Amino acid sequence: RQAAFRTDLSVLLDQVGAGKESLSFMKRRIRRLTQQWATAANRLDAKLEQRWRDQKKILVHVGFLTEESGDVFSPKVLKGGPLGEMVQWADILTALHVLGHNLKISMSVKELQGFLGVPPGRGSCPLTGPLPFDLIYTDYHGLQQMKQHMGLSLKKHKCHIRVIDTFGTEPAYNHEEYATLHGYRTNWGYWNLNARQYMTMFPHTPDNSFMGFVSEELNETEKRSIQQNKVNNMAVVYGKEASMWKQGKEGFLQILHRYMEVHGTVYYETQRPPEVPAFVKNHGLLPQHELQQLLRKAKLFIGFGFPYEGPAPLEAIANGCIFLQPKFHPPHSSLNHEFFRGKPTSREVFSQHPYAEQYIGRPHVMTVDYNNSLEFDSAIREIMRMEVEPYLPYEYTCEGMLERVHAYIQHQDFCAPEPPFISANLSRQGSAGGSRMMGPLFVPQPNSTALSWASNVTAPTAWPPLSSLRLLVSQEGQSCVQSCQSAGFICEPAHFRFINNKEALLEVQCEVVDSEINHILPAFSVVRRECGLQREPLLFSCAGHSPKYRRLCPCRDFRHGQVALCRDCL
Ligand code: UDP
Repeated sequence: RQAAFRTDLSVLLDQVGAGKESLSFMKRRIRRLTQQWATAANRLDAKLEQRWRDQKKILVHVGFLTEESGDVFSPKVLKGGPLGEMVQWADILTALHVLGHNLKISMSVKELQGFLGVPPGRGSCPLTGPLPFDLIYTDYHGLQQMKQHMGLSLKKHKCHIRVIDTFGTEPAYNHEEYATLHGYRTNWGYWNLNARQYMTMFPHTPDNSFMGFVSEELNETEKRSIQQNKVNNMAVVYGKEASMWKQGKEGFLQILHRYMEVHGTVYYETQRPPEVPAFVKNHGLLPQHELQQLLRKAKLFIGFGFPYEGPAPLEAIANGCIFLQPKFHPPHSSLNHEFFRGKPTSREVFSQHPYAEQYIGRPHVMTVDYNNSLEFDSAIREIMRMEVEPYLPYEYTCEGMLERVHAYIQHQDFCAPEPPFISANLSRQGSAGGSRMMGPLFVPQPNSTALSWASNVTAPTAWPPLSSLRLLVSQEGQSCVQSCQSAGFICEPAHFRFINNKEALLEVQCEVVDSEINHILPAFSVVRRECGLQREPLLFSCAGHSPKYRRLCPCRDFRHGQVALCRDCL
């Protein structure tokens, strides 16, 4: 069946259910953004020009909100606990509904069993018939519950699953045996999924798919009125839990207070939280729309280093604030910070909100060293003088999210048998030899050698299409994430299978070519002058890097403001 865009959200609102603060939060959000989603649906509908879109049967099982997982979130909704997850789930549900799919929502193990048609009760009673869904969106809690209640059949059906995973899961952590043998074991990983089945809140490593969420958009009139009404000396602090204000914040808060009126939205019960200095005007935790109003007046939204990578800075920037945040030196990661410990990623976080730093940047985002009071002081003074316009990257608009989720649903297929690696007997056109080894990087242009052999491959179903591929050899110790990025591209894990062959590696003149199970491969060992090909497709990794290795990287182009999609990806 063909899917038709929906602009009426009342059925969805009924489906979400009631009775918990988390559900009310999500419903308020869905209601508030209804008009915005409708406009976006109409625009995308026109953009896609009647293209056929399959209507999919989709189950959304929100594991972290089930009683069975302890539902630690719902009671915290009114207390400043993590709301980012709630924001993201509300937006995912809305996007799937608006795209016109056949949606079922489950928030308990009982509902899950009902929808899957497995007999109720504990124990792993496998699902015997076919899976009644094309796609299942869940999280790590939900995955665990499905394992418990679907038993062996989960293995058979897992290609249909998508895991909403805020911070991401790198391939080395996802491969059970490899993770266990090489010290990448955590509480979360080891599900042996295709890493693109994990969907993140921000585009962290491209090994995962970027799901995202949306932020409120302003029309031109609103933008103008915001700019006219900005209060140049008004700052709002990012941190709705008192614990985020603890220790070491006095110094720069004092400096800030020297120039600006400081506002906070810190949750409190009866008394002012002692962590929040008396000069701060604390509004208490605000409903989302009231926070937006506060942000519309404020000039500065200031981060204290925690929470990491939440939605609020994007909302602030969309409302014309400048986001000031601390640089982390050394970077925070699962190796040195409690928060990231045990998370299935080695990603190094160089500031509180790397997306804001890398993808948005000045003038909307300033990342400075908070320990350097001179630098901090001059940043504040500069911010008071600056004029910025509200800004929201396209990928965080409703249309951007719909476009991306549409593309994933229609094109990502992890159930099709993995085609064999394209290798060896490809005819190489021309012979570039190793002369390109002279430069630190090698980026073939569309008609140069490397691409001409790649396009010999007939892969009409490849998505992203092969036309987007750009082959590149990283510098020593560099990951493909960095390497592609520094050349203005993005690493594309789906393209690894096209470059995991001797032909591609000939560019680095290796004496020996071996194949191994190692997440750094395909790569070239500088010391041994050996090339290694990857033997385990689950371990193709953009994120992997190792000293003395130059990696072979499959990069691709991307759309401005929509990094998840290549130019010909729609
Ligand atoms: N938020 C809110 N009231 C407040 C402060 C924040 O409703 O007083 C909302 C905010 O609009 C954002 C969400 O909380 O969409 C998540 O915020 P944050 O960036 O702090 O991420 P978290 O750590 O909660 O995931």
